[in-house]
Amino acid sequence: MCECNKLYSALRIGIQLLVILILCMALPACSQKDTPTDKIHIVVSILPLAEFTEKIGGNKVDVSVMIPPGASPHSYEPRPEQFTRLSKAQLYVKVGTPIEFELVWLEKILSTNKDISVCNGSRGIELITTNPDHGPGENRNATNIDPHVWLSPKNAKVIVENICSALITMDPDNQLFYQRNRKQYLSELEGLDQDITAVLQKKKARKFMTYHPAWGYFAKTYNLDQIPVEFEGKHPTAKRLQKLIKQAREENIRIILASPQFNTKSAEVIAREIQGQVILIDPLEKEYIANLKKVASILDQAME
Ligand SMILES: [Zn+2]
Repeated sequence: MCECNKLYSALRIGIQLLVILILCMALPACSQKDTPTDKIHIVVSILPLAEFTEKIGGNKVDVSVMIPPGASPHSYEPRPEQFTRLSKAQLYVKVGTPIEFELVWLEKILSTNKDISVCNGSRGIELITTNPDHGPGENRNATNIDPHVWLSPKNAKVIVENICSALITMDPDNQLFYQRNRKQYLSELEGLDQDITAVLQKKKARKFMTYHPAWGYFAKTYNLDQIPVEFEGKHPTAKRLQKLIKQAREENIRIILASPQFNTKSAEVIAREIQGQVILIDPLEKEYIANLKKVASILDQAME
């Protein structure tokens, strides 16, 4: 073997050792993730509930969400592996309103795990009905109750309180930790509420159009009126579409909110007729505070 070959094989061994060393250093970090921790395993129905639970539970909770981004709680069907994950969960946080996903699936979800505790996010919130002029809303159970409670920051505060109480019951040793987080997040929600009030209270116009009627609680909190395009959970008929176009012109409406979960075609028809715009806004966005700030600023720009 010549000198050059010796040098080469020495170099190769050196590199191999280095690679092994790096792998060894990286391994503990990887395996740590997979070892079971003493975190509380929590499953929630929708992303905003995941956000609230993580804000209060911090690094003491491990949260998974049933309805993935982009899916609708009015139609989503859970995948089999989601039931497997539920078997490890200690707490389920439900919206607690007549929303289809929970009406259809919650019983089955809870029956897969006899030891799971349930936190009703909406406990203590006054539920409102959808405007009768707009038809019986989207609910298959025909209760007329608007299920979208989380979209008012005032209700979000109640949901946060409910989640915090559930966490303290499950894990009383960390009561102070949860209470500190609750205080911090409630003050952020209070700030959000004040910001939205400041932006919207000076508006002369009080009506806005939305494809899917998700914003009833938001509208009620800020003294606004949502005009839904969707009727009884379906696309509007041609006749209703004409009525909506006329109304949008009369009310000087320039934008139509639409959720990415729904087909926006009829919203676009109206927008074209009124030379307005369809704005996509997701009622299920995880970044709750940023999302509601965005809604307020959209309405600020669109309303007189
Ligand atoms: Zn909805």
